[in-house]
Formats: sequence, structure tokens, C-alpha cells
Amino acid sequence: MRKQFAVLGLGRFGSSVAETLTELGHEVLAIDIDETKVQHLADVVTHAVQADGMDEETLRSLGVRNFDVAVVAIGKDIQANILVTVILKELGVKYIVSKAQNELHGKVLERVGADKVVYPERDMGHRVANNLVSANVLDYIELAQDYSIMEIVAPGIAHGKSLGELNLRARHGVSVLAVKTGEKINVAPGADAIIKENDVLVVVGENRAIQNLATD
Ligand code: ADP
Repeated sequence: MRKQFAVLGLGRFGSSVAETLTELGHEVLAIDIDETKVQHLADVVTHAVQADGMDEETLRSLGVRNFDVAVVAIGKDIQANILVTVILKELGVKYIVSKAQNELHGKVLERVGADKVVYPERDMGHRVANNLVSANVLDYIELAQDYSIMEIVAPGIAHGKSLGELNLRARHGVSVLAVKTGEKINVAPGADAIIKENDVLVVVGENRAIQNLATD
């Protein structure tokens, strides 16, 4: 279903969000205080408007309150980021996603009504670090402190063995959620599923345990 998104702040993060949502077939209103940023996206998104996100009247006249989701992607100016979040909340926007610079900023955003707080720099840092520690870690979703879902290249010890034989849950405390073989994916692999070289495993467990497994 086609949804309506408003993206406020068109720096690297905001413009990437706006472009991707458009590519996914959604309607995007992109707003920035800086005219050149707006020009940049004018041909890409549904509407690109030069405006100050802190100007409540302008947001009202643009009909932002009727959008399904608003993304506050203003970065360095923490004050503007928080005030825009407050204004969007007061306008009654159903779902507000705000980008935080740090944990304290994130807490403030939650207090003032952001439905979701994102930390793109921190998350990307985690991803890059995990990939640097082990090139076999392809992707990463943090579930809780120290626990994640990771996509890893099947380690050498697993090649030609079944999940039952490997018994990763008992040995490493790691559960295999899916096995990818090329384009094919087995989302509920049984104990008899055989792991082949070049397979990719989607696993859940403690970060350290997964890292150990990935380098086995
Ligand atoms: P990034 O790290 O994602 O590039 P920046 O902080 O550099 O983030 O960019 C955020 C964008 O938000 C900039 O393009 C800036 O012009 C815009 N911006 C800053 N303040 C406001 C505001 N009050 N209203 C709308 N856009 C704003």
C-alpha cells in the first residue's frame, strides 16, 4: 500500500531515506531549510519544499499532520531536531521517527513523543566493527545489548554437516533461523538440513558466541 511520508532535513541521512522511500513506491514530502538541498531532491521525490521545520504554520499548511509517518532527519542542530519532533507531535502526526546524536538526545526524543528513535551513525559503527572483526559477518540486527541476529558465511567446521550434527544451540548457544544457498532460502531448517560451502547462515545469539562461530 502506498503510504505518505514527510522527511524533514535532507542531509546525507534524510536524503537517503527520502530517495529509498520513493524507490519503494511511496509518496514523499521532503523538507529542508536549505534551498540547495531541496533542489537536489526536487526531481526525485513527490514534493520537495524549502521550509523551516520549526515553523508550525508552514507544516500545518503543508498538511503534514495527515501523513502516515514523519522522519526528523535534522542532524547537527539538536535543538531544531527536538523542537521539530515536538511540533510534529502537537500537530498529531501518527508516527514520528527521529534521528538522535547520542543516548541522552535519544532519551529526550522519546520523552517528547518520538515513536521511534534511530541512531544511524552508532548502528553503522557497530556493523562496520563486526564486519572488521570477522569478514564472515555479512549483516547484523541488534536485538538487545550483546545479542543480535547476524548473517554469517557458513564456517569451515559446518561444511557437509547437518544442523543436528553441528548442534550449535547446545555448543555455542546460537540458533540457526535460516540457511541461504545462493538465491534460495530455507527459513525453517530442520536437524537434517546439510550446510554446504558458501551457504549463508542467519543466526541469533550472543554477539561473542556468533563471532566465535563465524571464525571457526
Ligand atoms: P547528516 O549528518 O544526515 O548529513 P546534517 O545535520 O548535516 O545531517 O543535515 C541535516 C539537514 O537538516 C541539513 O540539510 C540542514 O539544512 C537541515 N536542517 C537543519 N535545520 C533545519 C530546520 N530547522 N528545518 C529544516 N531543515 C533543517
